Amino acid sequence: MIDPKTIEEIKLKSDIVAVVGRYVALKKRGRNYLGLCPFHKEKTPSFTVSPEKSLFHCFGCGKSGNVFAFIREMEQVDFVQAVRILGEQCGVAIEEIKNERYEQNEILYQINAEAALFFARQLAQNPEAQAYLQTRGLTPEVVQAFELGFAPDSWSALYDHLKSKFNPARVEEAGLLVKKDNGEYYDRFRKRLMFPIKNYQGKAIAFSGRIIDGSSAAKYMNSPETPIFSKGHNLYGLHLAKKQIAAQKQAVLVEGQMDVVACHAAGFSNTVASLGTAFTSSQARLLTRYSNNVVIAYDKDEAGLNATDKTIEVLAALNFQIRVLDLPAKDPDEMIKQHGAAALQAALAGAGDYVQYLLRRSLAKYDLHDRLQKSRAAQDCLRIIRNLGDRVLESEYIKWLSRQIGVGPEILHESQKSSIMPNFGKGVYVSRKYVPAPKDKYTKAEESLITAMLSDVELRRSFFAQFQPADLAEQWQGVLRYLQQNEFTDDKLIEQLEQDSAQQPELSALKETLSACLLTQTDRRLDGAACLRLLTERKKEELRQRLRGELAEAESAGEETKAAGLLQELQQLR
Ligand SMILES: [Zn+2]
Repeated sequence: MIDPKTIEEIKLKSDIVAVVGRYVALKKRGRNYLGLCPFHKEKTPSFTVSPEKSLFHCFGCGKSGNVFAFIREMEQVDFVQAVRILGEQCGVAIEEIKNERYEQNEILYQINAEAALFFARQLAQNPEAQAYLQTRGLTPEVVQAFELGFAPDSWSALYDHLKSKFNPARVEEAGLLVKKDNGEYYDRFRKRLMFPIKNYQGKAIAFSGRIIDGSSAAKYMNSPETPIFSKGHNLYGLHLAKKQIAAQKQAVLVEGQMDVVACHAAGFSNTVASLGTAFTSSQARLLTRYSNNVVIAYDKDEAGLNATDKTIEVLAALNFQIRVLDLPAKDPDEMIKQHGAAALQAALAGAGDYVQYLLRRSLAKYDLHDRLQKSRAAQDCLRIIRNLGDRVLESEYIKWLSRQIGVGPEILHESQKSSIMPNFGKGVYVSRKYVPAPKDKYTKAEESLITAMLSDVELRRSFFAQFQPADLAEQWQGVLRYLQQNEFTDDKLIEQLEQDSAQQPELSALKETLSACLLTQTDRRLDGAACLRLLTERKKEELRQRLRGELAEAESAGEETKAAGLLQELQQLR
């Protein structure tokens, strides 16, 4: 852990425009600098650097942060290393001090490493588990590379092994023990094939256990979230796959741990899996460090198809090149077993782009021999095509669609133009650029007020003296609750959010919203105090209307005292 004062000094001495300028050609635009984002492919610059706020933000892919965050992403190093790099550049010497959380996390890493060793030894000694590995076609090399192991059929084997070295409370914190009401501990994983889950640096941070017989227990069981493990932020197999992903400029994304191991065993060592959950944008960002090109190879069942749709949304929003594998088998693991690695290789090479996949999926829902259904199918497909926002691509896919449904491309083009506004709600396949919608004055005032509050603690205080988060539009409530709880401003606020989002991953979306707010050009904004007045006016008007309604009701019901009271309240409101 580095002394916060040293970090502050390095930050002050590192000019963000100069630091970023070493990697990105920047042009001055208003108070900010603009360039092509180094983290995603783009043709129009949306990567913004603000010298005033000491922040960068990409309006295309959403990456943002201060100088340290930039170096971390750019050089693929951790925070401490980023501080060192910048410290060296501006000549500030770094002394490390001890930090409690850091040391506690170190212990959690040690516990996971020791448990992985223990499980691996158990696997080597267990004939049943060995036999299982053989039926899955896993070689000793791949078993060793993934450090697979076996949790014995016992309530205390791991506990007994670790208790002389570690405090059981820490082992419980690592997710490996469960505490009973009477205070005793037992092993969480029993009679399961163990897959250590490692972070991209190769440190074990959690486990996933798979049953090896037909028992009724859940097929996979994962460690709970711990201070060092958050499943939406890690990809299984990335530590082994990252080199190949960068070298082949492509990642293969599968659903399960077993698919990853089987693919690596068959030579597809650029394969990773999301950890049994929906694929998240932080997992996507983890991939962008190595490649922006993904082949999705999920299971062919309904759950897999739905997961594919969601993953496409996440990846398309970050401008990934996406292809979808059409497998003649249940999943990649089965594919290798039934048809061999060469067949999977061919399928990967021939995987169609995601737009074609979405169009095929839409067409499959309809009976194209029925005229009405054919028209609906065409409308569905045109909506997907429209959302691409690229004329050349649109024209290409219209040609393709025309061949599929036997309707001339001119007619499809016509109906493309004549249909009303694109339905953005339904297809989120467009990149997340700002789509300006007409705003009323209150919406504008809310937005400007939030932006002003990010830099102004006084304004924030006077806001919370009169308003609750629920008084503003739903989209701002997360932001407001966060602002209510702390008094950081500008880049400090973003920095704090970055730290907090390590513990609470749901905050990373908030960080994006806020840094976008901070860096949006402020020329045409209303000032904070004026916004506050406008919103106070709106609140009063709403109250007035409610009172008028109640007054009318009380009068028609003949409740004179109540009516008089309401009238008085109304008069005091001016
Ligand atoms: Zn970007």
